[in-house]
Amino acid sequence: MKKISIVIPAYNEEGNIPLIHEKIKNVFSQLDHYDFEIIFVNDGSRDNTQQILEQLSEQHEEIKFIEFSRNFGHQPAVKAGIDVSYGNAVISMDGDLQHPPELIPEMIRKWEEGYDIVYTIRTYPKQISYFKRKTSDFFYVILSGLSDVNLTKGGGSDFRLMDAGAVEVMRNFTEDDLFLRGLTSWMGYKQIGINFTANERLAGESSYNLKKMLTFAFTGITAFSVKPLYIAAYLGFLFSGVSVVGYILYVIYSFISKTEISGWASLIMTIVFFGGIQLIILGIIGIYLGKIFKQMKGRPNYIIKSKNL
Ligand code: UDP
Ligand code: MG
Repeated sequence: MKKISIVIPAYNEEGNIPLIHEKIKNVFSQLDHYDFEIIFVNDGSRDNTQQILEQLSEQHEEIKFIEFSRNFGHQPAVKAGIDVSYGNAVISMDGDLQHPPELIPEMIRKWEEGYDIVYTIRTYPKQISYFKRKTSDFFYVILSGLSDVNLTKGGGSDFRLMDAGAVEVMRNFTEDDLFLRGLTSWMGYKQIGINFTANERLAGESSYNLKKMLTFAFTGITAFSVKPLYIAAYLGFLFSGVSVVGYILYVIYSFISKTEISGWASLIMTIVFFGGIQLIILGIIGIYLGKIFKQMKGRPNYIIKSKNL
């Protein structure tokens, strides 16, 4: 019997946990030769997620849980689950049933064919807001353009299977700003993607608002690329070049036409414009500096308050 560990981060998922367990159990009842465990990571939920997990884990031995001391976020939660998973393969998926458990047999099949990482390519159904679909696609285009990771459109979801070997490698990552979908893509190995259509969230609310999505986008880009720093430098060169040329032209012009160059407004606008550019560049440098600062302190990505494994 091979064992499959399923990692599910859960933040306020009281309405979904019993059902996702049912569904996964069902899927495995039709798969011979595979044993499974579900590792729920309670990421500081404010609802009854913890009570439900404790109850369920007493009734079913395949249910394990980790409870965080507070909300650390989706990525640290997935990483925590991976850190304690010792199955022959590990599958991570969302706890809101947006990732259909029915896809698990196909993921396992690909794994058995010899793929180390089976990632999923998501298409959003029409019900999901146009805004969310478009911003998500746009982000992966920008990210792929700016960094060395190549995430295809829709390739960014944390529904993925990893072989124990790859899991072992990931366990040893001590990276502070986690962006797992980028990391797995970067890791190499034999990878394959399979398509699925995301369901709507079953119960509860999505906790990714625009602000969180933007932060996540910045994390993703700056975790995988120093290109923004180069862009800052290029912009600096470009503008100083343009201003030197402009300055020379103005001097020549004022000699020829024998007039002073006037224009207080244009002068102020120029100053403001370059002031803005400088702040942006400083900001970009600041982001990377902040990352170094965070990484230097070497704090853990998460703190476990209780667990049953
Ligand atoms: N999640 C988490 N910590 C958080 C936010 C979310 O563990 O701070 C979990 C959540 O319970 C779910 C998954 O991460 O299982 C995806 O979150 P959500 O459905 O809110 O994101 P969306 O699907 O809207 O991108
Ligand atoms: Mg969701």
